[in-house]
Amino acid sequence: RFSSNVYSCFVMAPHAVILRNMEASLTARDRVGIQDFVLLDAYTSESAFLDNLRKRFHENLIYTYIGTLLVSVNPYKELDIYSKKQMDTYMGVNFFELPPHIYALADNVFRTMLTEFNNHFILISGESGAGKTEASKKILQFYAVSCPSTKLLNNVRDRLLLSNPVLEAFGNAKTLKNDNSSRFGKYMDIQFDHQGGAVGGHILSYLLEKSRVVHQNHGERNFHIFYQLVEGGEDELLRWLGLQRNCQLYSYLVQGDCAKVSSVNDKSDWRTVQKALSVVDFSENDIEHLFGIIASVLHLGNVKFGADPRGYAILNNNPEMHWLSKGCTDTLANNQYKLRSALESDLFTPFTVDHAVYARDALAKAIYGRTFNWLVNKINESLANKDSSRKTVIGLLDIYGFEVFHVNSFEQFCINYCNEKLQQLFIQLTLKSEQEEYEMEGIEWEPVPYFNNKIICDLVEEKHRGIISVLDEECLRPGEATDLTFLEKMEEKMGGHPHFVTHKLADQKTRKTLERGDFRLLHYAGEVTYCVVGFLDKNNDLLYRNVKEVSVMRQSKNSIIKHCFPSTEPDSKKRPETVVTQFKSSLVGLTEILMSKEPWYVRCIKPNEGKQPGRFDDVLVRHQVKYLGLMEHLRVRRAGFAYRRRYEIFLQRYKPLCPDTWPNWKGTAAEGVQRLIKHLGYKPNEYKMGRTKIFIRHPRTLFATEDAFEVC
Ligand code: ADP
Ligand code: MG
Repeated sequence: RFSSNVYSCFVMAPHAVILRNMEASLTARDRVGIQDFVLLDAYTSESAFLDNLRKRFHENLIYTYIGTLLVSVNPYKELDIYSKKQMDTYMGVNFFELPPHIYALADNVFRTMLTEFNNHFILISGESGAGKTEASKKILQFYAVSCPSTKLLNNVRDRLLLSNPVLEAFGNAKTLKNDNSSRFGKYMDIQFDHQGGAVGGHILSYLLEKSRVVHQNHGERNFHIFYQLVEGGEDELLRWLGLQRNCQLYSYLVQGDCAKVSSVNDKSDWRTVQKALSVVDFSENDIEHLFGIIASVLHLGNVKFGADPRGYAILNNNPEMHWLSKGCTDTLANNQYKLRSALESDLFTPFTVDHAVYARDALAKAIYGRTFNWLVNKINESLANKDSSRKTVIGLLDIYGFEVFHVNSFEQFCINYCNEKLQQLFIQLTLKSEQEEYEMEGIEWEPVPYFNNKIICDLVEEKHRGIISVLDEECLRPGEATDLTFLEKMEEKMGGHPHFVTHKLADQKTRKTLERGDFRLLHYAGEVTYCVVGFLDKNNDLLYRNVKEVSVMRQSKNSIIKHCFPSTEPDSKKRPETVVTQFKSSLVGLTEILMSKEPWYVRCIKPNEGKQPGRFDDVLVRHQVKYLGLMEHLRVRRAGFAYRRRYEIFLQRYKPLCPDTWPNWKGTAAEGVQRLIKHLGYKPNEYKMGRTKIFIRHPRTLFATEDAFEVC
């Protein structure tokens, strides 16, 4: 599965052109480096690899290939390489005939899909801020522009393109790593008909970082949409929603103390989102209700509690209560009394002030999280393809990248676990299956060693023994378990694991000290120290029954809230799955989706931590090259065979080239191929005969055969 398409892009390539290009790139090599690490011989060491990347980066050549894998280094500045003209240049042209580009990869995937009529996916990976989301947008734009079009399809195309700003507004935020950081994972299928027209799409979203709604670390923001509404919303709209044009007034917007970001223009982004919402089929009613919710979350954040003489929470005369219950679209309830009692108590148990604040925040997170899911569904409805004829898809995976902050919590744990899983997938599909195939086919092969991060995946997710299991177990002991008992249980169960360290174990394993409430995982991409505070709580993600069930949300007049909080919640007596367990299952589902498709890779690299153009930090880049497994990938590629085909298929295609095999070959396919390539003059070191397939080392050999085929 992995190999058949690998160099199918070469099939129609006149090899002379390729060779000419290779020579040209040889002479220019000193200045611009080489464009594919595989094709030239000198690049086997990590330093040489780095030299090449650096050289190219300083020439604004941010793309380099390892075979068909694309390495991309974030330039942190606008480059003039994404114009319509550039797209046209890359459209329908063979991979190595032009300088490396994300468009070349996109085009290659597209054409392979059309000729082989099968499904593909592009896995875009790299740490936070490395350029994944930008890469996925470039690919989508390329398809939107380059696919054959009809009037009907234009519609789909705009929706595909404009779903992006909507999702980014609601799902992205400024973090310390990236001013436009994706806080949810996104897998998008683009569906094509057999002529290559984009006819529909479907988006799967993964674990939105809901905690951001109520809390942001210093230097970070809430989701963009809040600021866009306050900064960009029309006067009349704000008045109707009871909002003022000043982010500083909203407690949920200022926790990170940086409501303004120089690289983000909330006002103009607001206009973009408004336009996008209408293209993606949101009715006026939807839009009204949607912003009723966004405003309600802001009002909710400003609700303050006082304490009665016994210390229980009471709501003083909060003006917010009016806006929450009576204002705009009666978003949270149309009965102020009920809303008030839901915020002050759970059933008949009154809350302490802290408890009430906690319940309020839980409500805000639930509302936002469910609204986000509604939004994704709504976009999917608009992208859905009504016609049932067979389609092929190209999937784009753009998920939050590996993250290490000063303080890391449950959210980073989930994000980094997800990245471990994707790295594992990459290893399985490239390093592992590639080498196993040689073994299976009986090809003599010097194995390339690589670090397999399965050991870390197991540490996190193994049944009964992994961190997730322990965490879920603790979540089942309400009242008894705490974040600290969770930590202690982990120490007990996985203390001996080479990738797990805590305060107690720190001395024996690393010299670095750890706080008592921390644990450290040695991830494939580096060490991360997690603070256990909040793990149980965030994993439980409980919402108080009063707000959920009894009255408040049910009586809302807001159609989205009604939809998101249905009167029959799925079996409310059964314990809902914990957050991390749901996430784990969704990642298993994702892996299954991906495993059924042909993989392609974009590996994004972050050149410096300062988001600066022109700065290439050797230490930082070297680290990424290492953990992304690029050197191993290169070694396997170089030592291996670029192209392979089953004997039957190879013979079927090329048998006209040899009088012995044409028109019919009576012997086995392997013998036929043997006869055929002897006739074609293949040199012994150019190919290997496996059990079921022929392996060809260099694409050049195949070009020559294909050229001969064309002539005949
Ligand atoms: P990730 O999704 O990997 O976290 P992004 O794709 O959001 O990272 O990129 C972070 C920022 O880097 C972008 O907002 C943009 O400013 C810059 N950037 C990334 N890729 C490019 C590119 N190809 N050209 C110009 N700037 C880029
Ligand atoms: Mg991103």
